[in-house]
Amino acid sequence: MAETFEKLNRLLERAAALQTAMVLFEWDNETLAPKGAALHTAKMIGSLSEQYMEIVTSAELADLIKTCRKEGGLTGLQEAVVRETEEEISRWKDIPVAEYRAFRELVSRATGIWAKAREENDFASFAPVLREIISCQKRFAACRAKEGQSLYDVMLGDYEKGFDTEILDDFFRELRENIVPLLREASERSQKIRTDFLSADYPVSAQERAARFLAEYVGFSFDRGVLSVSAHPFTTNLHNHDVRITTHYGKRIDSSVFSVIHEAGHALYELGIRDDLTQTPVGQGASMGMHECQSRFYENIIGRSRAFWEPIYGKIGEIFGEPLASTPLDDFMAAVNRAVPGLIRTEADELSYGLHILVRYEIEKMLIGGELDVDHLPEVWNGKYREYLGICPESDSQGVLQDIHWSQGSFGYFPSYALGSAFGAQIYYHMKEEIPVEDLLREGKLGDIREYLRDRIHQYGKLKDSRAILRDVTGEDFSPRYYIRYLKEKYGA
Ligand code: ZN
Repeated sequence: MAETFEKLNRLLERAAALQTAMVLFEWDNETLAPKGAALHTAKMIGSLSEQYMEIVTSAELADLIKTCRKEGGLTGLQEAVVRETEEEISRWKDIPVAEYRAFRELVSRATGIWAKAREENDFASFAPVLREIISCQKRFAACRAKEGQSLYDVMLGDYEKGFDTEILDDFFRELRENIVPLLREASERSQKIRTDFLSADYPVSAQERAARFLAEYVGFSFDRGVLSVSAHPFTTNLHNHDVRITTHYGKRIDSSVFSVIHEAGHALYELGIRDDLTQTPVGQGASMGMHECQSRFYENIIGRSRAFWEPIYGKIGEIFGEPLASTPLDDFMAAVNRAVPGLIRTEADELSYGLHILVRYEIEKMLIGGELDVDHLPEVWNGKYREYLGICPESDSQGVLQDIHWSQGSFGYFPSYALGSAFGAQIYYHMKEEIPVEDLLREGKLGDIREYLRDRIHQYGKLKDSRAILRDVTGEDFSPRYYIRYLKEKYGA
């Protein structure tokens, strides 16, 4: 057995090396690479990705897995490595290679077409390529669907194992019934809150200093991580000793402040994964949703709490200078917790965010289920924004064209954002029963909170899926009621 697993390991190491190289190229593309490099670099990425596919779909890998299973006697970690590898193989094995390559090309063309369409507010120019992407993704999902499984459920499973439309329909119904009226009330109160001190021409150098300070304050390690700048903030990791986050600096300081805390939350997850797991197929966060759970926990649940800011608000005021320095903490807290429905998902407040995801979930379900044609997308989109958020985009650029995801073929991805917030609330209420979260925040002892999350979640990587983590940490399966309770306690009158 040991010998077979050793052989498997060596092959997986080659796959991991290729993946790491791709990740590094992608990081470089978004941060440092010159603009003109993209096309040429895409060739290298294409070749690396083909080599990766060759390993994953090879007879050698399939045989090794089979032998491992037959010989048995796997340790817990080995068992998980074999399981993750089997899942990766089944993700690719039935998809015709030529068709997949054509799809990659289609997608790289589509993101360009989408960007131009968004800039020129021209949905019609994006519609044909979007239709093509949807039909490819449906074909791929059909190759992999188990008997009786819907195509959208196949896609959802890629991002959140153990979640399907049955669970999500209930979850989003709860959100719709509770958040829509709550947002209406909260938004009325929020109109009076002043925010002028958040956008007062603070120099980028001050924003940079604050970003580094906050990343370090929540526990991001600059010995094992990098902070850089990109158009859209993101986190990427090569292994648990090299985790990279980005942010952006704009007019409003709350945008960079909270995006740094958010990305640092992602990074802490990857940095907390055990040494014996990193660089193996289980050496990453459990799922998209569990990742968003960590980032949103830091950004919103603790990052927007008064207790978090009490020990550091003076220091932050010093870094930014006037007018923030003389703004009372209560005014700052009110400003960063305003809830006002807006058109753009990435700028949404904590309360209305879930409704942006609700719109996308309902639309994706219809698109993949064949109940909605791409041509009618803008009117359906606008109708749902009117119904749930009480506002309507004046242009498709501000509406259906705002997100890159569909142009990349990512269907089933959006729900993870909302699930992450809900996981976070469920874990938070349980955490409060075990450790004095507010007192720790007030005393600046974020290490205790980080340890809690590392012990119970981070260290395990993909050894457990998100539902198993929730069960082990909170003693119950996923339940949306904590999220609703959290939002009601925070935003209710
Ligand atoms: Zn995130």
